[in-house]
Amino acid sequence: MPRGSNLTDAVFERRHRWIVNLLVGMTLLTLPYGISQGMPLRHAPMVVWLPIVLLIASRRMRTREWRSVLTTLGLFGSASVYVYLAGGATESHFAYFVLVGVISLYQDWRPFLVGVGVVLVNHVLFGLVMPRAVFEPTPGVDFTMSMTLKTAALHTSFLLASTVASLVAWKASEVQALTDVLTGLPNRRRMTDQLDRIISYGSEPGIAILYLDLCGFKKINDVYGHEAGDQLLVEIADRLRQLCRHDGFVARIGGDEFAVVLPATNQAGALDAARRVAETCALPIAVDDRCVRITASVGVVVLTSCDLVNASEVLRDVDLAMYHAKNEFGDTGGFTVFCADMRDRARADFELELDLATCVQNNELFVVYQPIVDMVSSRIVGAEALVRWRHPTKGMIGPDVFVPLAERTGAILDIGRWVLDVAIQQLSVWDDSLDLCGSPQLTMHINVSTNQLRDASLLTTVRRALELAEIAPSRLVLEVTETALLGGDSDLIALRELKELGVRLALDDFGTGYSSLSHLAHLPVDNLKIDKSFTDDVPVGPNRSLMAGVLALAGQVGMTPVVEGIERFEQVRDLLAMGARFGQGYFFSKPVSSRTFVEQMIIQDRGHVAAAVITESALSA
Ligand SMILES: [Mg+2]
Repeated sequence: MPRGSNLTDAVFERRHRWIVNLLVGMTLLTLPYGISQGMPLRHAPMVVWLPIVLLIASRRMRTREWRSVLTTLGLFGSASVYVYLAGGATESHFAYFVLVGVISLYQDWRPFLVGVGVVLVNHVLFGLVMPRAVFEPTPGVDFTMSMTLKTAALHTSFLLASTVASLVAWKASEVQALTDVLTGLPNRRRMTDQLDRIISYGSEPGIAILYLDLCGFKKINDVYGHEAGDQLLVEIADRLRQLCRHDGFVARIGGDEFAVVLPATNQAGALDAARRVAETCALPIAVDDRCVRITASVGVVVLTSCDLVNASEVLRDVDLAMYHAKNEFGDTGGFTVFCADMRDRARADFELELDLATCVQNNELFVVYQPIVDMVSSRIVGAEALVRWRHPTKGMIGPDVFVPLAERTGAILDIGRWVLDVAIQQLSVWDDSLDLCGSPQLTMHINVSTNQLRDASLLTTVRRALELAEIAPSRLVLEVTETALLGGDSDLIALRELKELGVRLALDDFGTGYSSLSHLAHLPVDNLKIDKSFTDDVPVGPNRSLMAGVLALAGQVGMTPVVEGIERFEQVRDLLAMGARFGQGYFFSKPVSSRTFVEQMIIQDRGHVAAAVITESALSA
């Protein structure tokens, strides 16, 4: 039977308000109509008390069912009063048919039952006791019991027929609205309804809910077209339906996401089901005359009798578990069981994301600088600007935590722009404040992510920052990762535009990505920053020769190598022997504030002045 499931709460409220207004209007009109029909005024309370009581009662009810039932009772009661005031005139009975149309707005079988019930009781009861209140008298014919019952049955059956027609129509549309058109499976709404019902009845030893997402489904759509994708979804739906035909049900949540609900299942049963679901999805599928294989990431939640939750909370948790499975297993697919930690972490990540969006405006970021050293002359020749976040309540948050988050949310664009402005401005301040004794002009290295490279405003931001600070473009080195360089033609175009501006480029963390060595020669980069993983094997390590090879290669393709992660003196000695010149790492300095950086420069320059004076006096002596 239709139960108004098609109506959202907002739509129900709107329709209910309209029906209540109709009842108020009918009740108010009863009085003038009654008086016009010769009703004594003292009878007025008798004809309006029932609708008023029902109106008040319906306002006090919380559930949709009770509110619609009481309002319907008021409407049909009011219609009966009109029939009575009209002396049972046949035309006045049409009011019942009009009201059947009105309460059809509830799309629920209960108000209909109430309406038909009122008409039946009214016709039989009043028809027998005071027939003139219900039926129009036929001249020369007296009311008899059999005539009353016959007329009551006739009226009620007309109303019943109209009701059945409405109910059948709504049931059909309700089923249609709650079923996924492509696969014929219950859709998300029906699934939530059913799950809520199962949870409220409880199920021993527990209820397992599986949420699965097909990996690489988009590729099938892209390569073979959407019709082929639909074909695949139908096949997966059939397999899942087959898999749990005895002990549960499957629903299509949307796109390539399905849910499986298994009542009377414990943890072990749920894991077994998840394994079977993953295996079923992984079987070959014929699509567009080709045989394709698809995997599934499955999230699993097992509810026990003490879990007081509703379906939407369960879906939230199982969806989260599915995303964990996706992150953990990638395209190979697999399953993960939900644990409360996941929710806490998701909430913490979300809060951090929100804070990240405003960290620039709230002045919570600052930049530290790690010196880049010329190991031959022992001079600091540049600095790498590294952003840090001091969260107002959580304290220092590492870049390994917030940078990936900022990349994902797009906040990296704001942060990146801010770092560019601050670091380039800092270079100008250093120029003004450092009276350098023969030091070369410092260069500033700034990390730029793939997202930033794809930001059309990057070139303008860089140009404007350089102009404002009056810094020559050649003193700025933008460090990009190998992924950015492999990203595609548009990324390379952005890099070339920056090169044309005069900015220098460095390939960052070389060795951690996928760059083929032959690919290097074609990249528009000036510096090759060799990753710490290579440096760790210097001077004695299984891959020591790799460092020598990379240094030689960098020279051959015309790039200046900068060795990252230098931590010990022996490494400096060995790297110098291999021909390396520039380095960076904790052996020289950790990333420091701009103030400490300046102090390091001053000490270094004074050292060089002293050394020069000593050498000069030794030579003259
Ligand atoms: Mg870097």
